[in-house]
Amino acid sequence: MFWVDEIVDKIIETYPNLDEFIIRDEKTLSGPVHVGSLRGVVIHGIITQVLNERGKKAKFVFEFNDFDPMDGMPKELEGKGFDEHMGKPLYTVPAPDGNAENFAEYYGQTFLGVINEIGFRPEVPHAKDAYKSGKMNKWIEIGLTKNNEIREIYKRISGSEKPEHWSPVAVVCEKCGKIGSTDVISFDGEKVKYVCAKHKVKWAIGCEHEGEISPYNGNAKLTWKVEWPAKWDVYNVTIEGSGKDHNAAGGSHNIGEAICKEISHTNIPFNVPYEFFLIGGKKMSASKGLGQSARDIANLVPPEILRYLMIAKKPNQPIEFDPEGDTIPRLFDQHDSAAKWYFEKGEKDVMQTDLARSFELCQLSDKKPTERYLPRFSQLVFIMQIPRLDVYEEMAKIKGSELSDADKEEIDLRMKYAKIWLESFAPDKYKYELQDALPEMAKELTDLQKQFIKALSDKLESVEWDGELIHGNIHEIVKGNEDYTPKDCFQAVYKLFLAKEYGPQVGWFLSALDKDFVINRLQEAVK
Ligand SMILES: [Zn+2]
Repeated sequence: MFWVDEIVDKIIETYPNLDEFIIRDEKTLSGPVHVGSLRGVVIHGIITQVLNERGKKAKFVFEFNDFDPMDGMPKELEGKGFDEHMGKPLYTVPAPDGNAENFAEYYGQTFLGVINEIGFRPEVPHAKDAYKSGKMNKWIEIGLTKNNEIREIYKRISGSEKPEHWSPVAVVCEKCGKIGSTDVISFDGEKVKYVCAKHKVKWAIGCEHEGEISPYNGNAKLTWKVEWPAKWDVYNVTIEGSGKDHNAAGGSHNIGEAICKEISHTNIPFNVPYEFFLIGGKKMSASKGLGQSARDIANLVPPEILRYLMIAKKPNQPIEFDPEGDTIPRLFDQHDSAAKWYFEKGEKDVMQTDLARSFELCQLSDKKPTERYLPRFSQLVFIMQIPRLDVYEEMAKIKGSELSDADKEEIDLRMKYAKIWLESFAPDKYKYELQDALPEMAKELTDLQKQFIKALSDKLESVEWDGELIHGNIHEIVKGNEDYTPKDCFQAVYKLFLAKEYGPQVGWFLSALDKDFVINRLQEAVK
């Protein structure tokens, strides 16, 4: 059974009588959101989708965490006057573009754009509103009055020792507006005394103001490890997965569970721990001007393919994505083979059934996908680069029948992404230029290669111009002389037409070119 269906089975078994399922995820909006954060979004989104499929009422809630302090400078903002904002709640920092409502909103909306593009429509509450509306007040009080119990849990679960005056609550300084720099000194049941410490943290400088203020209604916030169980409670969360780092023994999830059991007696959501999504390709960001944000990666492949990348592996397996090399053509191929099993009418084994389901779940709408021809990405990339070839015509030849409108739509879509790939990550081996005249490289041919080319040109004169037939004839010639190796022979062909030592499958490649052009070129090379 596909992993999403397995998890949903377990969820329904755990909550057989529940009316409404709240599935929650969040992101602190401290800069461009890394593509890795999409993994959580897709896992939560797809669980919501399948629960709804099963007739359950399920709602996906993706919180913009805009109340955390700005604790790091995004690379793109270095030297742009944002230093003074370090330590302030993200929603009070101005938007980098001057247009968005604030800093958090600027990065949040970009990320939400990608989330919507890949077919998820979560509700998007904001952390600052949860605090300002008073919904978090109960938990601020827990933080202030049970700080010793919480400190003891930290020590027992994670071994981390907090100083005696430690408080899980931080106040927004009334003077400088920073929250990262303040320490609570005391709480009298209504107001907290606090100090804005100059060097509490490395990334922000406090103004040394000492003040007294009510900690409620958005004047203060909880530290992450207490805020998390608070949000499980306040949002009434049924299901919330999280990355491997949070789920390590003694990590924030363990601490959250202990707080729920021992202090608040509130619900612990169904957990779906998941592994990291890692980006390979060190060269990637710098040399090609492309980053690792969700937006950057979403620009490289169609939304369905991005969804496929995120769901093909089980949550407990890491995903390593290196946009360099063969990754992108291979990702299309894997997706297409999943599609093939989806449309296959005959019997399927367990693996094939799972592949079919993965294809079904990477669709953007719940409408059944239309069966269409999926052009092989690497072939399309080649055809596109040969100006004399008509893409539809060649694709119809490969498909073996006329293209439908849906086929053409798919080809157009893939061409758009193939072009982006050719301009960004495609390795040289995928870049071709058909040589209009005999290239210099022809001089490099050995006597044996020339002998093969001569034999090939003689043979092809009488061969019907079809990829398979050309392919078969080439192999016959190669086999006919024990000194020939396929590698040397194919290389000779590529050198003559592409001025390269490699190329696409040789029979199909030649068949895509005009017969006279091919034979003339072969003859010219051995003249
Ligand atoms: Zn201050």
